Amino acid sequence: MSVKEMDKVNLLNFDRKGMEAFFIAIGEKPFRATQLLKWIYQEGISDFAQMTNLSKSLRNYLTEHCYIDPPEIVFEQNAGDGTRKWLLQMSCGNRVETVFIPEEKRGTLCVSSQVGCALACTFCSTAKQGFNRNLTTAEIIGQLYVAQNRLGEEKKITNVVMMGMGEPLLNFDNVVAAMNLMMDDFSYGLSKRRVTISTSGVVPAMYRLTTVCDVSLAVSLHAANDALRNQLVPINQKYPLHELLAACRDNVKLAPRRTITFEYVMLKGINDTDADARALIKLLKNVPSKLNLIPFNPFPNSLYDCSTPETIDRFRIILHNAGLVTTVRRTRGEDIDAACGQLVGKVVDKSRRHLKLQQQVASVAAEV
Ligand code: SAH
Repeated sequence: MSVKEMDKVNLLNFDRKGMEAFFIAIGEKPFRATQLLKWIYQEGISDFAQMTNLSKSLRNYLTEHCYIDPPEIVFEQNAGDGTRKWLLQMSCGNRVETVFIPEEKRGTLCVSSQVGCALACTFCSTAKQGFNRNLTTAEIIGQLYVAQNRLGEEKKITNVVMMGMGEPLLNFDNVVAAMNLMMDDFSYGLSKRRVTISTSGVVPAMYRLTTVCDVSLAVSLHAANDALRNQLVPINQKYPLHELLAACRDNVKLAPRRTITFEYVMLKGINDTDADARALIKLLKNVPSKLNLIPFNPFPNSLYDCSTPETIDRFRIILHNAGLVTTVRRTRGEDIDAACGQLVGKVVDKSRRHLKLQQQVASVAAEV
């Protein structure tokens, strides 16, 4: 970015409302917003001179004062199973990872919301890096923008999961604006069922989300009792299970057939016994739920083992027999470290968190 461009407005930062406000502020009609969204996201045009339905003077104004500045791809990896991972350069030297997971009938992009993460979940590699900063709206929607441009015509992104690096609900406004753009008919037009936000359980933000943005909700549960969840997902110490589940029940009130997806990472000897499965059934009794069991993905110096396939299957069957729709997440992109919890990017660990994690895990092992 040149010094001159630093003063320019990056239009990727605006959802439709923001874009309308911008045009009103410069004395233009609000409908310019939808024209711009179409050019940027549907036509892939970033040169204002080519936006032929805008007046000459507006094109000149935009060229002088605005730009479209997506993140830059610094590295791309393709896995044997078709999964693709991009390392993206954000401003200030920060890097995050974005993953595309192709399936027969859909293509899912796993999007990051923060550089690093503040939440210190003990089984997640992003946590080891500590928190650096929130991504801007432009940097979040920009992941979709660069991925779709790179994939070209033949592979379409049909689904987005906010399951990359970071806790999306701790970057509320930027994540909501980016999700609004994903669902806007003048932009990517994804249906609300195809945009999923995953949270470790930031309860007040879950209530707020229900009132402002109707997307699918996934909750990283990972334990059926507070003692264990306090250790695995430390934000549970602030918002314990009964508060988390009340927020989930509030969310499903939005629509009659709505369900919450609960993610549950399978950790050998930690949360994978028959008793754990039964506790889960009891816990989720009053919440319309789907269970997604995630085989733990190891990373360098990770402190857990994945449950055996037999244990995972046994766990799944207990839940299934109790009437819970339960799937086991197929691990994708393992050969390029693109699986859940393996995304790294580049952040300087300011917190010496890894040492703290080792101590925490030692205490979980002692308690369980
Ligand atoms: N902060 C959000 C979203 C990011 S993580 C959240 O907690 O939901 C997306 C999912 O991957 C979460 O369910 C997370 O708990 C899970 N995950 C993290 N590390 C993992 C690992 N090493 N193996 C498997 N799943 C992991």
